[in-house]
Amino acid sequence: MERTLILLKPDALQRGLCGRIIARLEDRGLKLAGMKLMRMDMAVARKHYEAHVNRSFFVGLAEFMTSRPIVAIAVEGKNAVDVVRGTMGATDPQKAAPGTVRGDFGIDIARNLIHGSDSPEAAERELAIFFKPEELLSYERETDRWIIES
Ligand code: UDP
Ligand code: MG
Repeated sequence: MERTLILLKPDALQRGLCGRIIARLEDRGLKLAGMKLMRMDMAVARKHYEAHVNRSFFVGLAEFMTSRPIVAIAVEGKNAVDVVRGTMGATDPQKAAPGTVRGDFGIDIARNLIHGSDSPEAAERELAIFFKPEELLSYERETDRWIIES
């Protein structure tokens, strides 16, 4: 079963949308494996967004991500990385489909509410930034038995 990292960005907390976003992840069938309310510092921002540090938007992105609390969430599920990316919608909320988090709640690419790892390798790397191994819990749900591995 795949795990991935989700960050609810400062705009999600400022707007009081965490519950509604988490509900969509649970509705999808994803299992919560870890969750913490935290403040991202600049060192973590540089590490987490290491692929973007030289991009023009990085300074604004890092300033925003470190400005106010975020929620870090680990979820588990079949193809969790792709499922979360689909539930999030396109990076630019203007282009994100209705029915996605960004397509329903966003309008500005710099305030797009949610981060999700973009590959299983990225998920593993990013989960290790935000969670110690013992902070990620494995537990059985009856519905897990209904999942057919393909
Ligand atoms: N971003 C931005 N301006 C851009 C591109 C990206 O502000 O032109 C921000 C946006 O918050 C995005 C984050 O940088 O979520 C990381 O960009 P990425 O391309 O990884 O998008 P994501 O994986 O979040 O969809
Ligand atoms: Mg990305």
